[in-house]
Parts: sequence; structure tokens; C-alpha cells
Amino acid sequence: MKITGRSFVAGQWLEPAGDVFQSFNPRTGEAFNHFRECTEREVDDALLAGKRAWQHMRGLDGVAIGGLLDAVADEIEALGDALLDTCDSETGLGRVRLQGERGRTTGQIRAFAEIAGRGEWVQASIDTALPERQPLPRPDLRRMLQSIGPVVVFGASNFPFAFGVAGGDTASALAAGNPVVVKGHPAHPATCELLARAFQAAIERTGFPAGAFSMLQSGGHDVGELLVRHPAVEAVGFTGSQRGGRALMDLAAARQRPIPVFAEMGSVNPVFLGPRTLAATRDTIAAGLSGSVCLGTGQFCTSPGLAVFVEDRAFESAMRAAMDAAPRGYLLNPGIRDALRAGLRRLQAVAGVEWLNEAEFAADSMTPPNAVLRVPASVFLEEPGLSEEVFGPATLLVACEDEAQMLAVARHLDGNLTGSIHATGDPDLEAELVRIVEQKVGRVICNGYPTGVEVCPAQQHGGPYPSSSAAWSTSVGADAIVRFARFVAYQDAPQRLLPAALHDANPLGIIRRVNGEWTREPL
Ligand code: NAP
Repeated sequence: MKITGRSFVAGQWLEPAGDVFQSFNPRTGEAFNHFRECTEREVDDALLAGKRAWQHMRGLDGVAIGGLLDAVADEIEALGDALLDTCDSETGLGRVRLQGERGRTTGQIRAFAEIAGRGEWVQASIDTALPERQPLPRPDLRRMLQSIGPVVVFGASNFPFAFGVAGGDTASALAAGNPVVVKGHPAHPATCELLARAFQAAIERTGFPAGAFSMLQSGGHDVGELLVRHPAVEAVGFTGSQRGGRALMDLAAARQRPIPVFAEMGSVNPVFLGPRTLAATRDTIAAGLSGSVCLGTGQFCTSPGLAVFVEDRAFESAMRAAMDAAPRGYLLNPGIRDALRAGLRRLQAVAGVEWLNEAEFAADSMTPPNAVLRVPASVFLEEPGLSEEVFGPATLLVACEDEAQMLAVARHLDGNLTGSIHATGDPDLEAELVRIVEQKVGRVICNGYPTGVEVCPAQQHGGPYPSSSAAWSTSVGADAIVRFARFVAYQDAPQRLLPAALHDANPLGIIRRVNGEWTREPL
């Protein structure tokens, strides 16, 4: 499929006047396909069209919105192998991984189609009037979630499908009835272009207004900043680095009218290993942990970057052997390679940190060594930089003097997406670790590893800052939709003025909280 290098702005494929940038093949270093960076003009056109489209979308029922999402999933599948090949050539992630990620992506789009169609996500609540109540009568109050308007989405380089143009942020924002403007990722712009074609076909098939979706290419920060500053934007969904997420949070907060930024950022995902459990299962844990660290060349936000244990040299040897035995993979792009080299140097610069299997990592190499480093907990507790993410196949072993120091390390940690505990052989420690770790992370994992994020309603993907900007929200699973909505209450409104979800007859047949009881019954 020919790549045009254009951006998709409210139904039109445009060639903006901005600078030219290219995508790279991480395996060969070859630069290919030229793209034009968008300008203020395309940002304005996309968002104003989005605002107009919202006026139309607000009047649609959830079944129509679900129809658009189902069509998007169909059209992504219709792109066939061309999508996988293009994405593989821009990311080096490999056909097998990308096929799986595509299935997860279309699966989550269809799940949001169903959620929109069922209509229960609006969390309808009705408290009927109590005119006789003393000392004051109670009015009739009815509340539900509603769409908010144009949402800007930034995807991450490491999940070009599931956290990209057609990823969970886009799907959940559309499912809530909002137009979406995606900022294309500079590391996989051709993939972004193909995915935007799927949206174009779905929008045309379902008769949605052109402003319902736009994708703006960009090779630098300017377009993203313009999008977040634009007065027509109501919320931002971001997946990426802590630096990028924080920059956009600050921009959004500094606007005259601040808007929410739902940023899913990097994380070190600590793994705690109880001493008796470790002694009994050293090799199994070394195999499982190294597998999780090296999966996808360590390029997962859930990659375990820290392992905390009580001094155990045999475990360190087992980890070194397991990391050395794991095959080397490709990094996504030169930016991530440079950040990984800098991150490893940063760790090594701290007195007391030892790179246990130190190996050559050339400045132009896209296949990094699988790195295991070690630091005494006393040093770790004094050096805040050691709990920052090093994105890639690297993990830091934090060696503690005793269980009390393990607990001190747990208390010392910042917010993380996940925390894993292997301590069934140390039940008292296990219980205490869970009580501490649950305050620090979004997902507590027992006897497992953090890579692999099941997409289901009970999933929580998002933890306290700095792993996410909004710890009460999730970017994966059914509840991701509520990020892009707000509650509106109607007081003493006649039936004819109410949305269908709040009508006495409950025409949508949804579950509602009526006078404190959950029911599908009409009033
Ligand atoms: P990134 O460099 O932060 O980029 C993400 C997006 O944000 C890109 O479109 C980037 O485009 C834009 N951006 C970054 N900084 C910006 C700024 N200051 N102003 C405006 N736009 C900015 O992240 P990445 O390298 O693509 O992805 C890897 C990171 O994502 C890792 O840290 C990983 O842990 C994290 N991640 C998190 C999750 C999660 O769910 N929590 C999932 C996957 C990945 P420009 O560079 O063109 O501006």
C-alpha cells in the first residue's frame, strides 16, 4: 500500500506546509517514507471540525456510536498484511507480536462498541422527589455521564496499535461520544496513516461527520503543544514517557481554562522476593523475572525494572545467567536506544551500583545487551534517581540486609503501575508487603510478573503519580470510558427534557440506581 505522507484532517488528506520528517527501519537503519509536519492551521481545522462534529454526535444514541467503532475494527482488519508489514518495518516488533496486538486492539474497539451500545456506562442515578420531606422537600434529581467534546490522543512508540491511533484512548473517547484528534507518533507515521485510512472508511460507511476523527502527523513537540493549548480541546489522553506526560500536564494546567490530561506514563514495576520463597524457587524466579524483563526487548510500561530481595548471591548468579541466555531483541527507534544508553550510564554513575553482566552497547547498536544491575538497599534508599524507569531490557536488583529493609524500600517507592510479590513462603512479610504495595500501585500481582495486561472490566492500568496523572482512572478495560465524560444532573426536569437514560420508563433497559437501589425496573 502506497504511503502518501499526508495527514487526515476532518475527512481530507492534506499535505501540510511543515517540515519533512522520515520513519526509520530499526533493523536496517534505512530511512523511508517522507511525512510533512502539520502546522497551526491543521490543528485549528481538525479541532474546530471536531467541535462541530460533537454537536451532531451528542444527539446520537450509543448503538450508532457502537456502529462506528465496529466499522473501525472491520476496516483495520481489512488493511490485512499491509498494516502488519508497514508497522513491522517501522518498529521492528515482528509479525507475531503485531498480529497479537492487532487482535487485542480490534477486540478492545469492539468491546467499547458494545459498551456504547448497551448504554449502562453512563451510571444513571435517580432520586425521586420527596415533596413531604421535613424540614425541606427533596427535589427530583437525575444524574448521568455525558460526552465532553474533542479529545486529543497521544500514543506511545511501543504499542503502535493498542496504545496508538486506534488504541484504547481513541476507542474509549469515541465510545463516550467524543470526536478524537490523534497526534501521529513520529516513530511510526506510516502505521498512523494506514490506521487513519481505516477511520476514514468507517466514517464514510456509517455517515458520521468528517470531524469525528483526525490524525495529524508530526515529527516534534510543536503540534502536540498546539493541540493541548487549543481552546476547543476538552481532554487529553496520553501514553508515553514521564517527561512527555508531565510536559503536557503542565501545559494543560497553564491554559486559561485548564483541561484534564489522562497520562499513562513509564513505571519501574517493583518485584518483591521473600527470602524463604526465593531460596526455594531461585531458578524458577530467575527464569520468570528475566523473561518478563527481556520480553519485547524490555519495551513495556509494565516491564519489571526493580527486584527487591534479601542478600542472596546465588540468586544474583542465576539472574545473570538467565539474562545472558535471553536473546537480544531490537529497540524501537534511535531515540529509545539513546535514552537506554543514557539510563544505564546514569545508574552506573551512582557509587555502589554494579552492572553484573556488563557488556558492550555501541552507540549505533539497535540490539542492546540484557542488563542486570545490583545496588545495596542502603544506597537505593538515598538515591531518588534509582527508582526512575530505564526503558529497555534492564533491571536493578536491590539487595536488602533483612526483611525490615525490604519493607523500607517498599515504603520509599513512588507510584507505579504494578507491584509484584513472590512471598508465599514468607506469609507475614507477604501480608505486610501487600498492605504497603497496594498504596503505591494500580495492580498488585501475586506470584506473577507484570508484563501482559489482560483487557477486561476488572483490569486497573494506572497507578499513583508519576506512573499516571489520574490514579483513580484506568486506560485499559471498560472503565476507561468514564475519563472522557462528565456528570450532569437534572433537577425537577420534565420527562420530555431528559435524556432517554433518565426517563421513568427506562426505555434503554439499563441498570440504574433508583432511590439508592440498583434496578432495571421502570419507575
Ligand atoms: P514519548 O517520547 O513520551 O512520546 C509519546 C508521544 O508524546 C509522542 O507522540 C511524542 O511525540 C509526544 N511527546 C513527548 N513529549 C512531548 C512534549 N514535551 N510535548 C509534546 N508532545 C510530546 O514516549 P514513547 O517513547 O513514545 O513511549 C515509550 C514510553 O511510554 C515509555 O516510558 C513507556 O513506559 C511508556 N508507556 C506507558 C504505557 C502505559 O500504559 N502507562 C504504555 C506504553 C508505553 P513528539 O516526540 O513528536 O513530540
